Amino acid sequence: MAPGLWAVAAAALLLLLAGPGGASQGDKEPVYRDCVKQCSRTNCTGARLRGFQSAQPPYMALTGWTCRDDCRYQCMWTTVGLYQAEGYRVPQFHGKWPFARFLCFEEPASALASLLNGLACLLMLLRYRSAVPRQSPMYHTITAFSLVSLNAWFWSTVFHTRDTYLTEKMDYFCASAVILYSIYLCCVRTLGLRRPGVSSMVGVLLILAFTSHVSYLTFVSFDYGYNMAANATIGMINLLWWLGWCWQNRRTLPYWWKCGVVVVMLHGLALLELLDFPPLFWVLDAHAVWHLSTVPVHFLFYSFLIDDSLHLLNTEKIGVKLE
Ligand SMILES: [Zn+2]
Repeated sequence: MAPGLWAVAAAALLLLLAGPGGASQGDKEPVYRDCVKQCSRTNCTGARLRGFQSAQPPYMALTGWTCRDDCRYQCMWTTVGLYQAEGYRVPQFHGKWPFARFLCFEEPASALASLLNGLACLLMLLRYRSAVPRQSPMYHTITAFSLVSLNAWFWSTVFHTRDTYLTEKMDYFCASAVILYSIYLCCVRTLGLRRPGVSSMVGVLLILAFTSHVSYLTFVSFDYGYNMAANATIGMINLLWWLGWCWQNRRTLPYWWKCGVVVVMLHGLALLELLDFPPLFWVLDAHAVWHLSTVPVHFLFYSFLIDDSLHLLNTEKIGVKLE
């Protein structure tokens, strides 16, 4: 299949699989609804509510866990127990699988994995800045890319700790910013070093694309399918663009394979998201496995960026034309 068709097919598949994030089978169950209603009425008013608030650990109050949230959490497990006793498949609740909460962490494995991705990114940014002199042509673009990524991993950690209207939007929008910035990075590296005008133009176009994307999701409709399809399409452009560049430079740049492995791994690992299974031990779902799997990729990616930035600096010094 032609690359363009493949991108469209992948986007369509994601669109089909994404589904709505709102109501799910579990929370539509009368047993669950009655349980939440009953629990809120008994425990979340008057003296019982004051008792709940004084007994609640500060970290739970600070992360915004309410009495009603606790009712939902308890009733979710009651419903899961009933489903399992009857031999039915574990249902989702409010667009998510049931996860065992750890302290204030709603999805502990994904939160930890996001934190590890952020730490790997920070560590490698520091290594990059100590290994590469500031004069290297990509130095500032790569530093800015790392900051955009760090911001995204911060919001991903926050969102998986506590899912709210705001933290969900921040996780999605900051992830889209990384995907768009990686197109910019690719464009600067492959075209912009010789033609700075091209990267400025692409930069403006990407800012416009990001603004329209965020405005649509905020003011028109928060459409999970559209968001996934948009990210998958931009991701596919990114993958093909980098792979094309790797292929062109395979004879002149001995480290080209690092870039090829990184982009193939990042896009291949994203397919893990499609394996939507109930969390193992109520902790490890496909999303957490995906977040965990990308942690080692940062090391190879920055190793490529260091090799490439040093190469660019050397070729510039001896006056060789940049690839
Ligand atoms: Zn996530």
